[in-house]
Amino acid sequence: MSYIFRSLSVGVLILLCSAASIIAADSPTYMSIEKYFDDLTINNKAISTVEGYTITREGLTIVLSSGTISFAEPWNDRTHIAYFTGVASLRYMPTTKVETDRLAQYNEGQKSFYNEFTDMVLFFNDSLYENIVKKFPPQKLTSTEKIKFPHKFKDLFSTYFEHREIIWSHSLLDARRNSSFHCMAYGERLKTVLYEFCPTEPEPISFYISKTTADNFEYNFVNLCPSINPAHNPEEELTVTHNTLDIKIDNGLKMAVTSQLRITVNSDEMKWSSFNLYEDLTIESIKDEKGNSLEFFQPDESNKIWIHIGASKKGQNKTLTVKYGGKIIKRIYDYTIIETSIQWYPTYGYKQKSLFDITFAVPDNYKLISIGNKVSEEKKDGEIISRWTVEYPIRNASFNIGPFSTAVSDRKDVPPITLHYINSNNKKNVLTDIAQAYEFYTKLFGPLPLQSLNATEIPYTHGEAFPGMLHLSWLTFEDSDNSGAWQSFNAHETGHQWWGIGLDYKTYRDRWLSEGFTEYSSLMYLQMMLGDNKKFFDILKNTREKIINAKKQRKSDGVDLCPISLGHRVASTSLTREDYHTVIYEKGAWTLHMLRNILLNLNTMNEDAFKTIMKDFFTTYQGKSASIADFQKIVEKHVKQDVSWFFEQWVHGSDIPVYHFAFKTEKTPDDKFKVHVRVEQKEVPPDFKMSIPIKIVFENGSSARIRVFITGAKSEFDLPPLASAPKEIIFNDLESVLATVKIEDWE
Ligand SMILES: [Zn+2]
Repeated sequence: MSYIFRSLSVGVLILLCSAASIIAADSPTYMSIEKYFDDLTINNKAISTVEGYTITREGLTIVLSSGTISFAEPWNDRTHIAYFTGVASLRYMPTTKVETDRLAQYNEGQKSFYNEFTDMVLFFNDSLYENIVKKFPPQKLTSTEKIKFPHKFKDLFSTYFEHREIIWSHSLLDARRNSSFHCMAYGERLKTVLYEFCPTEPEPISFYISKTTADNFEYNFVNLCPSINPAHNPEEELTVTHNTLDIKIDNGLKMAVTSQLRITVNSDEMKWSSFNLYEDLTIESIKDEKGNSLEFFQPDESNKIWIHIGASKKGQNKTLTVKYGGKIIKRIYDYTIIETSIQWYPTYGYKQKSLFDITFAVPDNYKLISIGNKVSEEKKDGEIISRWTVEYPIRNASFNIGPFSTAVSDRKDVPPITLHYINSNNKKNVLTDIAQAYEFYTKLFGPLPLQSLNATEIPYTHGEAFPGMLHLSWLTFEDSDNSGAWQSFNAHETGHQWWGIGLDYKTYRDRWLSEGFTEYSSLMYLQMMLGDNKKFFDILKNTREKIINAKKQRKSDGVDLCPISLGHRVASTSLTREDYHTVIYEKGAWTLHMLRNILLNLNTMNEDAFKTIMKDFFTTYQGKSASIADFQKIVEKHVKQDVSWFFEQWVHGSDIPVYHFAFKTEKTPDDKFKVHVRVEQKEVPPDFKMSIPIKIVFENGSSARIRVFITGAKSEFDLPPLASAPKEIIFNDLESVLATVKIEDWE
């Protein structure tokens, strides 16, 4: 497991006055935007009657057939918001097949969305206003009374979706022109939909459909689509290259932090930028490299901070010094609860990598563990001061503090591994799992550049991995069950040093390469390092049932199981949220298992083909980020054939076959045995195909395996002639395909 940092689900952020904000009178601030939307008023001089006006954006066509369009009062002399009432239609088509399939699930099976609407609100940042009033000159109104903007549309502005803050910051705070666009459309009886185009995002198009009625502001986040414009290739507006943190934790476990961020600006236009910081940490000051105070805004109940970096040039390097503090660590008996593992320091985005240099000063009755290498430690005036650095840029930094005891592994061939624990019950086995898994993965995938590994106990039920550091649930130190689940858990968290950290995943869609790969690595650890085939196959059988049940459940809900390549967006609608673990971890592990068994030599049981692929993939992308497509290319390089069918079926699709298997045996005139086999393939399209091992067990206990390639609704074939009568025939041996197998009598 590891932390999903950027939530793609609907997040509500309330903009209220914060004591920590500094407001300059002469430049727009978040507070002034909030007030502008609160008081949103129709511009009396800009109300037009429109007829037959078409607005197009990528994937979107809006036709305003007949009605009235009014515009809100301008913001800083520019008009950004329109309200239309009358007869209008909206057509939307996703730009990729995966997103089209997803739309169909939330759109009664239709692959494009079309509806008529009576009301629409548009937010734009181009010349749409000028174009409309030129074609449809505004009416001359006699009344000077202020008309408030229709109330229901204000929800559009007070509820934050993924892209909205960025759109506002560029359009309103930085006063830029760009192709930002929102459309919220309402119909009397029809669904409410929301389309957004955010030009600074790699996947700029979002589409939401309301869950039930027009008055319900809860949405299903249906699509996030890439642009079809080849020129669309946005760069993040700034890069944090270095993070130097100086932290003091006092006896009451209160933190006081000075964070120095070295940044490189990637845009000439950026003035305001948003960073992430946990809401219970309060900012005292932010200064630039010259010591000048920078304007900032820290909204209440929000993990964002907005910093007015000021006019910048592309390529410019700056240093921000952020002083902040608060109490995010609580002690309960011997356990310390840290409320956030990664949002305790200011970060930009969620995928950037920086160098870290972290110094902690903590009371000397505590032990402090952080990421990377501990380069120094000294005891001074009742405090322990330790410094932690990394040799290469990393994504997330974390720490743990507590009255820990320690145990060090004595296993050779692995770097020093130290366990920092409270609960000593199962500490020996936890340490053994980590050290053995480390050794196993080093052989299987390749070596890591780590000088040491620290594993710490946390009072939570999950685990998390960071470079050179693990957080392990207190439950693994109890480990009262014998299923292998906690051994697999220890090996999973260790496995992230390879998958997710050593080789990072490129986008949220590639999460499988971290969680699914780590999950399967931990199962291979059970099977190959601990030699426990039973636990290995029991876990596969259990998760198969879970995956198949989840698919049935979603089908009955009117949707389907999400594909693996939807990444953490599996969790972005309430209908599929609980499938995230099932799809990314469990079906993810199964998918690697299927690839392994396709490549298995059934005569010799040699696995070199699969092992070579895994090692080549890891070593090729170590220290870099990889996508699912990169993995497919490595597979194809080794098997020397197109394997897109496998990826389409199992990674980008969600079909799971049901095989009805039957056979009959006949004695041939030359005293051999002929086995007729019939396989019916159900619940998948006819062109679904899979390579499936069949095991033949003979009376004398010996066995043989052959591989059959099943496609189409029904297959009938003979196995090669057998010298003696088969006692048993096992279809889908070694749990090679994620499928239901139903054994039938030959009729
Ligand atoms: Zn994980």
